[in-house]
Amino acid sequence: MLNAVLLLAEAVLYFGAMVTLFSFRSRIGLGVFVCALGVMHFLETYLASVFYVALPFGLVSPGSAVMFSGKLVMLLLLYMKEDAATVRQPIYGLLLGNAVMIGLVLILRLHAISPLPDGKMPDIGFIDEMGWLMVWGTSLLFVDAVLIILLYEKLGAHLRHMPFTRILASVACVLTFDQAGFFTALHFVAGAPIEVFFGGWFAKMAAALVYSGMLVAYLRWVEDHEIALPRGLSDIFDTLTYRERYEALVKHVGRDGLTGLLHRGSFDADGEAAVAAGIRTAKPLSLLIVDVDHFKSINDRFGHAEGDKVLKSVAAVLIETVGSEKQVFRIGGEEFAILCPQPHALARLLGEGIRNAIKTSAHTSRFNITVSAGVSTVGETTRCLADIFALADQRLYKAKSSGRDRVIGEPGSEVGAREAAPKTA
Ligand code: GH3
Ligand code: MG
Ligand code: MG
Repeated sequence: MLNAVLLLAEAVLYFGAMVTLFSFRSRIGLGVFVCALGVMHFLETYLASVFYVALPFGLVSPGSAVMFSGKLVMLLLLYMKEDAATVRQPIYGLLLGNAVMIGLVLILRLHAISPLPDGKMPDIGFIDEMGWLMVWGTSLLFVDAVLIILLYEKLGAHLRHMPFTRILASVACVLTFDQAGFFTALHFVAGAPIEVFFGGWFAKMAAALVYSGMLVAYLRWVEDHEIALPRGLSDIFDTLTYRERYEALVKHVGRDGLTGLLHRGSFDADGEAAVAAGIRTAKPLSLLIVDVDHFKSINDRFGHAEGDKVLKSVAAVLIETVGSEKQVFRIGGEEFAILCPQPHALARLLGEGIRNAIKTSAHTSRFNITVSAGVSTVGETTRCLADIFALADQRLYKAKSSGRDRVIGEPGSEVGAREAAPKTA
C-alpha cells in the first residue's frame, strides 16, 4: 500500500513539475521543459535497471512506471500543443545524447582508475550496461513517440470529443508495446524475471490512467482552448522522421532560388550526360536557348522586384509549354535553356510554341514581353554540349540582331515559316 501511494506521489510530482515548466514555455522558452525532460533520463534508466518495489500484482520500477510513462505523455503533450517538428527535437536529442554517452564510456574504460581513499571504485561496467539499455530504451521511445502521435491522430476521427478516452487509448496501447520491447532487453541484459513484465505492464496501465486524467485536467484548465486541425498521418510521419526537410533539401539542390528552375550547374551536368546518351543511343537531342527581349528596360521602368516577377512567370510558361520541369534550366539572368529529345524541326516548333505562349499565356501576357531563341541539334559537327551550346548561342545572337521576337535554327529548317513569321518587336 505504501509503495502504491509513493508511486502515485512520484507521478504527481513528475507531472506537476513538468507541466508547470511547459505552461510557462512562452515566457521562459521551451528549452527549459525539454532539458528537464532529458535530465531525468539517466535516473529513469538506472531505476528501471535495478530499483524495483513489490505491489500486489508484481514487481514495479518507478523508472518505468512513473518516469518513462510520464515522459511519453509529455511528448504527446508537446505534440498536441506545439507540433511534430518540435516534438522530434527531444526524441532525436535523447537518442543521439545516448550514443555520445556510449562513446564516452568506451574511452573512459581505458583509464587507469585510482581508487578513492575509502576504497570505493567506480562501476564502469554497470554504466556501460546502462548505456546500452538507454540506447535501446530511446530507440524504443522513438518508435513509441511516432506510434503514439499517429495513434492519437487516427483516434481523433472517432474520439474527437472524448479527449480522455482518446489519450488513454493512445498511451495504453503504446505503453503495452513498449513494455514488451523493454522487457525483452531487460531480460537479456539484466536477467529480469517474467514477473517484471507483468508487474511493469500493470503499473504502466495504472500510470496511463493516472496521467491521462491529469493531462485532460491540465489541458482543460490551464491550456488555451483551441481545436487543432486534423493532419494527414503521412504528413506527421514525414515531419517526425525529418523526411520533409530532407526532401525539400534534395528538391532545392541544383535549383535556382528565384524561379525554382534547375540552374547553370545542373545544365552543365545534365546537358553533358544527355548529349552522351543521345549519341550512344542514336536518339535526337536539341537545345534551345531562350532570352527575354529588352529585359533591362523592364527593370528600369518597373523596378527589380517586378523584373523578378516577370522571370518567375517566364519560368512557369516554359515549364508549361515544355511539359517537364526537368528539361528547363535558368542559365543566366533572363536566359533559359531547354534540352529536348527531339529532332531539329520539332525543337524549332517548340521554340515557336514558347515564343507564342509568352505572348498569350495568363502568366506573362500582361507584361507585354517577347523572347528570342536559338536552336541547335546534336549532329555530325556538334558532338558535345559546348558545340551545340555555341551554335544555339550564335543563332540566338542572330535572332537578336535581326529584330528579336523570333526563333532561329538551322537555315532552311523553318516549319510553316510563313505562319510563324515574326512580327517586328
Ligand atoms: P536583349 O533583348 O538584348 O536581351 O536585352 P536585355 O535587356 O534583355 O539584355 P541584357 O543582357 O543587356 O540585360 C539583361 C538584364 O537582366 C540585366 C540585368 O539587370 C537583368 N537581370 C539579370 N538577372 C536578373 C534577376 O535575377 N532579376 C532581375 N529583376 N533582373 C535581372
Ligand atoms: Mg535579354
Ligand atoms: Mg541576356
